[in-house]
Amino acid sequence: GRTTQKSNEKFRESLNNYNSIIGGLKKNEKKSQTEIEIKELSEKIDEIKEDKTKHKKTSKEKDKEKEREQKLEEMVKERTREIEESNHKLQQLSITDALTGAFNRRHFVSQLCEKFKIFKRYNRPTSFLMMDIDKFKNINDTYGHFNGDTVLKAFSSRVQSVLRLTDIFSRYGGEEFAVILPETDLESALTIAERIRENFMNELVICDDCEINVTVSIGISSFKITDEECDDVLKRADLALYKAKENGRNRVY
Ligand code: GH3
Ligand code: MG
Ligand code: MG
Repeated sequence: GRTTQKSNEKFRESLNNYNSIIGGLKKNEKKSQTEIEIKELSEKIDEIKEDKTKHKKTSKEKDKEKEREQKLEEMVKERTREIEESNHKLQQLSITDALTGAFNRRHFVSQLCEKFKIFKRYNRPTSFLMMDIDKFKNINDTYGHFNGDTVLKAFSSRVQSVLRLTDIFSRYGGEEFAVILPETDLESALTIAERIRENFMNELVICDDCEINVTVSIGISSFKITDEECDDVLKRADLALYKAKENGRNRVY
């Protein structure tokens, strides 16, 4: 009976030991499972962190890209401005007389036809001057071609100082100049033409070692409702100019 009791106790003891070992093992198992979970989680966190830094990098790169794009845009804008500027200069050159800075004949004629269309539609008074420097051949012969050019330049700037900004002043030929006077009737055109003529009659043109007496003859005309072509008005001004020359020059007709 005693030995059975003893062996029973031993058995219980070893069973307890066994249970505690199993429990410990189970605990360890649980522990290691949590450790694995923690490990996995921290790995995920690392991944997320890495992703974040990756994202940060790309946003930095995006900033740089934006900067580059802005710089490019500015360069394109600058270049466009330069091209527009030189196009404008070229356009101005293509309609300007190089010596006098007045509009050239081609531009004048196209403007005359534009103004004629406007006149036909709105019937606003529009006048026209045809001016020719008197005996200009003599001026060249007496003072030389260079001083002749000075006279042409002086002529251009003096006439322009009398005109309004909306008037279209052009060098029509060698020493012949034409003006469109928008919103101007024949009477006002006569006043303007007289002012130009008197300006030259009263004031010599100063050049290299010389003073040149320059006079100008002017023919005036206005658009008429019966006009069919835009240069009908030109023919009338030409005829008037011819009369001014015929009747002694330095006159307005
Ligand atoms: P009129 O009073 O009848 O107009 O006589 P004019 O001598 O002014 O007219 P004409 O047509 O006989 O001579 C015009 C002169 O203008 C002849 C030409 O050599 C000169 N001329 C034309 N273009 C220029 C130029 O650009 N510069 C200079 N210096 N002379 C020019
Ligand atoms: Mg002349
Ligand atoms: Mg002439």
